Amino acid sequence: MQDQIKETNARALHAAPPRATAPGRMNRAFLTVDLEEWYHLDYLKGFRCRESGVRVVPRIFDFLDMLDEEGVKVTFFCVGEIAGENAGILREIVRRGHALGCHGLDHELLTNKSLEQFVDETRRARDMIESAAGREITGYRASCFTMERDKLEAIRRLGFTYDSSKIRFAQHPLYRNLDLTGFTQTEDLVYVQGGFSEYEIPTLDIMGYSIPISGGGYLRLFPFWLLRILLGLYARRHENFTLYVHPFELTDAPLPLPKGLGKATAFRCLVGRRGNLKKLRRVIRWLKKRGARFITLEEDRRERGLS
Ligand SMILES: [Zn+2]
Repeated sequence: MQDQIKETNARALHAAPPRATAPGRMNRAFLTVDLEEWYHLDYLKGFRCRESGVRVVPRIFDFLDMLDEEGVKVTFFCVGEIAGENAGILREIVRRGHALGCHGLDHELLTNKSLEQFVDETRRARDMIESAAGREITGYRASCFTMERDKLEAIRRLGFTYDSSKIRFAQHPLYRNLDLTGFTQTEDLVYVQGGFSEYEIPTLDIMGYSIPISGGGYLRLFPFWLLRILLGLYARRHENFTLYVHPFELTDAPLPLPKGLGKATAFRCLVGRRGNLKKLRRVIRWLKKRGARFITLEEDRRERGLS
């Protein structure tokens, strides 16, 4: 019985409310950046990459300038341990009108942390980011989308007001599918409970397989003509879109990958970096042409009267 109720709730959550725009037209677009270093990539963790001294976060100014030219405001989620060394960049991000949130302390998966450790680290990460940026932060995204319900409740108790860690993979129905029982889906990709918001990262379901067209490796791997087709399919069923990118994908500065890294992993890490910033601009323009308005998650909450 309990399982049945849970399943009904889960189905209700995935039945999006009626759309405000015509099929094919877009409404809101949320561009998000996980502000982390290249060595935070999960598959580079066994190596001592950070000792190379090579950093990609200080190279995001071309991206920031592109955003200004396109009139796009972005939500950044910063890893706490790099906030201090990038304080000037965090302040520049805030000065340009973007939103800033927390992406954990050290980018370790949340599934590897106890609740107590998570709470302690989240407090420390928030302090680090707030003192570096000179402003309060209220948003969170879990590393590799590994948010769990008890940890979601913990960040609410800590005073965070929104999270963006929910992603669904049909091929992994249990893995990384955040339980949002009790939340109400108020709009495509937007869930609310008691003034707290969860923003979903969308996937495109094709023949039972979920393609994460919203960012990361797929955005780099697919040529723009293919992305345009996939986005067109997506826009038939959705009106909002969340994109996520990382600093190492926004520059083609060489990365000193460790020698022991397999060829497939190295390909996954490097593919499509060259020209990715231009491709991202084309995706932004495609979405804008179809009516999408790029706003930060904080602006979205303000527009809904939630903050
Ligand atoms: Zn990340």
